[in-house]
Amino acid sequence: MKASELPEKGKPKIKHRVSLRPFNTLSVEATAETFIEILEKEDLQTLYREGFFRKFDPFILGGGSNVLFRDNPSRPVLKISLKGIDIVAENDSSVQVRAGAGDVWHDLVEFAVQRGYGGIENLALIPGTVGAAPIQNIGAYGSEIEQVFSSLEFFDVQEGTFRSFTREECHFGYRDSIFKRDLRGRAIVTSVTLNLTKKDHNLITDYYSLTQRLREKGIEDPGIRDIFDAVVFIRKSKLPDPKEIGNAGSFFKNPVIPRDQFKQIQRNHPDIPFFEAAEGYIKVPAGWLIEQCEWKGKKVGKTGTYEHQALVIVNHGSASGKEIYQLAERIQSSVFEKFGIALTPEVNIVG
Ligand SMILES: Cc1cc2nc3c(=O)[nH]c(=O)nc-3n(C[C@H](O)[C@H](O)[C@H](O)COP(=O)(O)OP(=O)(O)OC[C@H]3O[C@@H](n4cnc5c(N)ncnc54)[C@H](O)[C@@H]3O)c2cc1C
Repeated sequence: MKASELPEKGKPKIKHRVSLRPFNTLSVEATAETFIEILEKEDLQTLYREGFFRKFDPFILGGGSNVLFRDNPSRPVLKISLKGIDIVAENDSSVQVRAGAGDVWHDLVEFAVQRGYGGIENLALIPGTVGAAPIQNIGAYGSEIEQVFSSLEFFDVQEGTFRSFTREECHFGYRDSIFKRDLRGRAIVTSVTLNLTKKDHNLITDYYSLTQRLREKGIEDPGIRDIFDAVVFIRKSKLPDPKEIGNAGSFFKNPVIPRDQFKQIQRNHPDIPFFEAAEGYIKVPAGWLIEQCEWKGKKVGKTGTYEHQALVIVNHGSASGKEIYQLAERIQSSVFEKFGIALTPEVNIVG
């Protein structure tokens, strides 16, 4: 599709042969044949009218912090850059804040913390955009976006209309939502609205490393800012900064396995950490499983796993998407051979 094929008014910004390296935190080289930046909601309607969504199944890109470009994407890339943080409703005790899908998630967390709005302080410093946050129901330190989620707006590429979904309609699960399933490829999130508290905050502090940090600082009665500061401190000390070393955070989801299978594994590995999941199921930390297979801190060519967290696959410089993908496959095979558990990538594999 050429830019000249589109009408002047509401013309989206179309570029060709764009390097995606600056657009993914794993810092993998890949080229997008067509790269379209969406700066206005009208751009989506323009593309729809031009038949773009009938001809193409574009890859929707936010901050690229949960993506592995295994190869050059064969589809056009649509970078969502819709911005604007607004308060849409407010009373004495709560506030509804809406943010554009292209806003940086951490900017929204800072916006809230600075004003004393509670609800997303545990989700500080998660890379990426607001629009991607509900796609995998981002979560950290005992909290998930679904707990404060009010609604989102998305562009339905089949209908060519903007639609709104409530929390129930998003079918949130562990790193999961309807947008990864039934609506995959159909919904482009344009904005997200959250319900935050102005008083009587529902503070979550019972996450091990968070409790430890607050204790270390001598904070007995923490507020939103204390939790925010503690989370920022812990994340900076435990996770690699993508600006310094390419990574996409946790590469795999923590597997949820039947209790019987867990009991069997526990017989041979009595120290296996675990969390109760849904009735009859147990969640096991994927990082621990990978570490048991002796992958922690291992280098394989230009890729490897992070020295302090085996669950994070890193790019030591110029690893290709294929190399990283192959390492992920090797890790999956080792874990399956040793424990009979199939790890599923949390990262979205493209190309
Ligand atoms: C160092 C590091 C730490 C991390 N820690 C955490 C953590 O603690 N918890 C956690 O949950 N995640 C974590 N992540 C993963 C990542 O930050 C989140 O998944 C984040 O929400 C991805 O946002 P993004 O804008 O970069 O999305 P992208 O990587 O660009 O896209 C991710 C997926 O969402 C889709 N998507 C993006 N924008 C839209 C949109 N507007 N509409 C529809 N679909 C869209 C894409 O097509 C893709 O499938 C971490 C990543 C890194 C690098």
